[in-house]
Amino acid sequence: GSDDDLRQAAKLIREVPDFPEPGVLFRDISPMLADGAALNAVVAALGRGLEFDVVAGVEARGFLLGAAVAQAFGTGVIGLRKPGKLPEVADRVDYDLEYGSATLELPADTLQAGQRVLVVDDVLATGGTLDAACRLVLRAGAGVAAAAVVLELTALGGRARLDEQDLRPLLSV
Ligand code: AMP
Repeated sequence: GSDDDLRQAAKLIREVPDFPEPGVLFRDISPMLADGAALNAVVAALGRGLEFDVVAGVEARGFLLGAAVAQAFGTGVIGLRKPGKLPEVADRVDYDLEYGSATLELPADTLQAGQRVLVVDDVLATGGTLDAACRLVLRAGAGVAAAAVVLELTALGGRARLDEQDLRPLLSV
């Protein structure tokens, strides 16, 4: 069944200590993405029971997941990008990270007002990234159907930053 498939998929998330800096336990979903059965189970679960018109995936692992979810559910996909990559930008949101700041950009001529958007990323940590993604959607006059992630790191409290949104983690640790 799908619960069992998800349990198997979860085993394919690698834990890498001290990456990208000392003290961080990095959760790498690359082996999970590389496994066909695991990818299938994860993609199906990310969109299950939700109504959405388009998927927005966060650079970079959210691109892989988001495109797969979009294809599985018959929608288009939008890549929310780090700065300096897009030739034409519809909007940008700057946000704070634990150390420093970051920016996400919405490509021109993608998201339409009134669309229901499934926002997808791999990991919810402090929540800054997913919150910025949701704000880009809302500022375009669209709606967030849900914010779906493979893994929520509960100790970092990211959920509180997304209190307005329907957060859908497949796994929480
Ligand atoms: P945050 O904005 O703090 O929620 O960080 C979320 C973004 O950073 C996501 O796009 C993740 O890919 C990445 N990230 C942050 N912490 C981790 C971690 N411990 N393991 C894997 N990815 C992480």
